[in-house]
Amino acid sequence: MVQVNGNYLKLKAGYLFPEIARRVKAFSEANPEAQVIRLGIGDVTEPLPEACRTAMKAAIDEMGTREGFHGYGPEQGYPWLREAIARHDFQSRGCEVSAEEIFISDGSKCDSSNILDILGEGNRIAVTDPVYPVYVDSNVMAGRTGEADGSGRYGGLTYLPITAANGFTAEIPSSKVDLIYLCFPNNPTGAVASREQLKAWVDYARASGALILFDAAYEAFIQDPGLPHSIYEIEGARECAIEFRSFSKNAGFTGTRCALTVVPRGLMGTAADGGTVELWGLWNRRQCTKFNGVSYIVQRGAEAVYSSEGQSQVKALIAFYMENAAIIRRELSAAGIEVYGGEQAPYVWLKTPDGLDSWGFFDHLLQRAHVVGTPGGGFGAAGEGYFRLSAFNSRANVEEAMRRVRAL
Ligand SMILES: *Cc1c(COP(=O)(O)O)cnc(C)c1O
Repeated sequence: MVQVNGNYLKLKAGYLFPEIARRVKAFSEANPEAQVIRLGIGDVTEPLPEACRTAMKAAIDEMGTREGFHGYGPEQGYPWLREAIARHDFQSRGCEVSAEEIFISDGSKCDSSNILDILGEGNRIAVTDPVYPVYVDSNVMAGRTGEADGSGRYGGLTYLPITAANGFTAEIPSSKVDLIYLCFPNNPTGAVASREQLKAWVDYARASGALILFDAAYEAFIQDPGLPHSIYEIEGARECAIEFRSFSKNAGFTGTRCALTVVPRGLMGTAADGGTVELWGLWNRRQCTKFNGVSYIVQRGAEAVYSSEGQSQVKALIAFYMENAAIIRRELSAAGIEVYGGEQAPYVWLKTPDGLDSWGFFDHLLQRAHVVGTPGGGFGAAGEGYFRLSAFNSRANVEEAMRRVRAL
């Protein structure tokens, strides 16, 4: 028989979301009259911006003509989209990022996993705890970890706890690491990093030759004009960081699929023979070999995000979700619950009350308020004792969910 990739057998069963679904199903079957409200999901709920839909419809009609038909496009993405991104997302904020350094893809989830293809096996890897599970599981699959222990932590990974005690920003590790995953604004905690905090990471990475993988999927939710949106706003980051961005959360593209990765020219790694190699060339080669580009239609939709209509529609979407987050924060605080996040991110992270653990609070909320959230322990051992509520829902559902929580 064929041999399987044994690394997959090290994976702890992806128990978080299936377990939530199991408990909700059991509850709904026992209580068919209960109107369950789901504030657990990390998926957007509002429709696609009109500017994006109009652009995609026009692109479909173009594709229906001999002159306007597009077959395979450039693996890196169309130049007009890469240029619009470079200008609007980076150069307008003073970041030195060129169109050539932007690689269009069908998602940050894949990019943040696929990047391991171009990185060596011997790198010491640091992740925050709690963490977006994709970073950890993709390292397990790629054979970059040992086995999991009883708390679900994998051997060989350095876990950097993010808790209320350190303001939810990881401390610089005392032992040497080569690869660091950072996500700000953070999923799941909703925390954000200041310029000074990011500078400390960039300084560490430059001094020690480490690479930062910076996930900025939620940058559009930042409200405080003083906070950095990109790691490249920090001097020296071009020498030590790759950034991932996505149209999923700002423009509602979770089901449409478009994202991008920035690999700066001149960002180097070392080869086994001690020579240095430019990561840009490796990523370009990887994408050209294993990826055939994002659909022309979808890239036209993403480009429309940067039109003036697109910009105002995306701003309105973000404002809508952030008002939901403000309502959740306000009502939980009024109920005497300690809340974090939700001010620069669509996630509110709360301390579970009355000494309940994360699953205990999950059951309490489900049974008493018919509201579903996500237990913090599912994102890592240090997330135990916390709970995530998402602002991705209708206003009516958020208000009703909070009315029920207040009445508990
Ligand atoms: C939603 C999300 C993304 C976006 O993933 P896509 O594959 O682009 O939809 C990336 N990182 C984090 C942490 C997320 O929560």
